[in-house]
Amino acid sequence: MDSPESFREQLSETIEQLKARLEFEAYFAVDYLPGSSLGPDRQLDNQVGPDSKQQVVTDLKADSLDSAELIQSADNKQARIKSLYQKTRTCAFCDLHKTRTNVVFGDGSLDAELVFIGEAPGHEEDISAKPFVGLAGGLLTKIINAMKFKRSDVYITNLLRCRPPNNRNPLPEEVVCCKPYLIELLEIIKPKVICTLGKFAAHTLLNQTIPISQLRGQWFEFKGIKLMPTFHPAYLLRNPQDKKLVWADMKKIMDVLNKYET
Ligand code: SF4
Repeated sequence: MDSPESFREQLSETIEQLKARLEFEAYFAVDYLPGSSLGPDRQLDNQVGPDSKQQVVTDLKADSLDSAELIQSADNKQARIKSLYQKTRTCAFCDLHKTRTNVVFGDGSLDAELVFIGEAPGHEEDISAKPFVGLAGGLLTKIINAMKFKRSDVYITNLLRCRPPNNRNPLPEEVVCCKPYLIELLEIIKPKVICTLGKFAAHTLLNQTIPISQLRGQWFEFKGIKLMPTFHPAYLLRNPQDKKLVWADMKKIMDVLNKYET
C-alpha cells in the first residue's frame, strides 16, 4: 500500500494535471482533452478557427494588467503577441513543461510575409529560448539568406514550444496541446506563405499522414495561407544530397513572394 506521503504526492500531481487541462479548455474554448473518444485533429479543427481571435480578446479582458489598453488595441500585433507569449511562458498544458528550461516561442518579424515552422526546440534552443540556433538553425539561416531575406525579415517558430526530452518525436497529445498557440500566432502574423519544415508540422497543419518526401514541393493551403512543405534542415544535415530538392521548393516560395529573379 502507498505511504501517505506518496499518496499525497500522487494526488497533488493529479490535481495539477487536472488544473492544467481545465485551463487549456477554458483558454482555447475546446472540449477535446487528450484521452477523449474523438480524434484531436477533428475537434481542434472544428474549435480553433475564426473564433480564436475573439478568444484572445476575451482572455485579455480577464487579464488585470493593461487590460483596457490591450482590448482597445486588439488589432495591435505587439499587444496580441505579448498576450500570447505570456500564456505560453507559464503553460503547463502538456508534460513538456516539467522538463523545459525555457519556452521557445518564436523569433522574427511580426510583419513577415514568410513563416517557417519546424518541429520542436532542441537542446540549444531550450537553453537560449530561441528557435533554430543549432547546426540545423545555421543551415536554415543560409537557406533564408539564399532566398534574399534576412532572418529578421521572416518569422521562425515550431510546432511545439517546449523541448521533448532527448529530442524525441512530439507525442500526439503534445501536438494537440500546443497547436492552438501556433494557429493563433499565424492568425496574428497573417503571412503570405507558410513553409513547414519536416513531417510533423506539415502533417499537423494539413491533417495528412503522407510521407514528407511526397508532400514536399507542392502548394497547399492552410486557413487561406499558401503552404509549402519541405524537408527539415536537420534532415538535410544527414542527407545533403536532398538540398537541391529544398532549394527547388524555396524557389517556388521566392516566386510567389517576388524574390525570384532569373
Ligand atoms: S509544449 Fe506547448 S502545450 Fe506543452 S507545455 Fe509547452 S507551450 Fe504548453
